[in-house]
Amino acid sequence: MHICLFDIDGTLIRSGGAGQGTFEVILEQHFGIVEGCEGVSFSGRTDRAILRDLFARHAIEDSEDNWNTFREAYLELLPQKMSERPGWVLPGVVELLAELTARDDVLLGLLTGNLAEGARLKLSHYGLFDHFRFGGFGDVHVDRNDVARDALANARAYQEETNGSSNGDAEVWVIGDTPLDVAAARAIDARAIAVLTGWHSRERLGVTEPDLLLDDLTDTETLLALWDQPV
Ligand SMILES: [Mg+2]
Repeated sequence: MHICLFDIDGTLIRSGGAGQGTFEVILEQHFGIVEGCEGVSFSGRTDRAILRDLFARHAIEDSEDNWNTFREAYLELLPQKMSERPGWVLPGVVELLAELTARDDVLLGLLTGNLAEGARLKLSHYGLFDHFRFGGFGDVHVDRNDVARDALANARAYQEETNGSSNGDAEVWVIGDTPLDVAAARAIDARAIAVLTGWHSRERLGVTEPDLLLDDLTDTETLLALWDQPV
């Protein structure tokens, strides 16, 4: 059995800046900060971590109330922003997910810094959400490695629910576009596939030593050959 944990932004889709654009509008409308996202890194990080840094940068209290205000506004505004700033599904993704979904020895999950509901909104927008059965998300954790641990625990729970037992010998794969995805893979003893469809150069991702570094996900033959190797 193979458990494949996919990142979203830069790996499955590019949202055309809808996510960051939504953060910006909320900072302005709810917290009075204009162009508040400048200088804060979004790539590969959890929404919780990004917001914590934004709050610190603009001297806004990192309280549960402020977090909830942000969260509610974000989920309400995101679909509109996605329509305004059309993004796209990255090359090979539709075909690869279809092939993996058709196999009975592969389980597909998410490992993303997005809020769980934000992940659903983004992937549903592109018709991709139904491929995924479980995941780890950015609602609570600041550290993406903790999200990876959640994703793996939820994968095991899903296996138990559906099979009556979890297969502890399953090979786990993390597919992502940032050095933080490769680090998250290592945090759960998973193998890492890095793709260059996000914001990082071949050199920058190469030094993180993923098991496989791909231009994009179009080479389904190479990818499927990986899943056919004995665990
Ligand atoms: Mg990403």
